[in-house]
Amino acid sequence: MMDPIIVIVSGPGGAGKGTIVEALIHRDSKLWLSRSWTTRIQREGESDDAYVFVQRAEFEKHIADNGFLEWTEFLGNLYGSPRPSVDSGLDIVLEIELHGAQQVKQSHPEAILVFVRPPSREEQQRRLQGRGDPEHHVVERLRKAEDEEREGAVLADVVVINDDFERAVAEIQGIIGAARAERR
Ligand code: 5GP
Repeated sequence: MMDPIIVIVSGPGGAGKGTIVEALIHRDSKLWLSRSWTTRIQREGESDDAYVFVQRAEFEKHIADNGFLEWTEFLGNLYGSPRPSVDSGLDIVLEIELHGAQQVKQSHPEAILVFVRPPSREEQQRRLQGRGDPEHHVVERLRKAEDEEREGAVLADVVVINDDFERAVAEIQGIIGAARAERR
């Protein structure tokens, strides 16, 4: 079987990467979204399967068991992508922050790193506030976005600005299509 294409979608909170990834998965039955583990508390209204929500001890045990493809600490919580266990023949999408993305690029240099940017800081703030994070988290994430965007510009294979949702999704679909064509 051919190796799966690994698409990493990264970008600051409120860039809209979750919605983009959802659309990619919905529109392309050959894509599989990796479900991350986190020690973060589930947000109000957040779906139960947004993450595997675990206690820190369980997460740390999984690190010790070498169960993660990558993991990191982000604003005080642990996040990690479990190693995909079955080879389903589907291409893999990871929605993760940049430190994790770098780890995946190290172990899988052929992985495609897409960095999604919000159209503006104002729009990003509006989106972050809209999902019910406490205000100090919003401020923290907006501050972090400055560094992430600087690093993203250097590390990413492609930077996609999410000012027009359909165009942004189509752009990423195009990148995946090109990678598939190249693999054949
Ligand atoms: P949030 O708390 O907003 O759900 O996620 C915070 C950040 O962690 C986001 O940038 C999100 O993409 C990232 N993230 C989610 N899952 C993982 C993961 O498994 N590994 C890494 N490295 N980052 C993750």
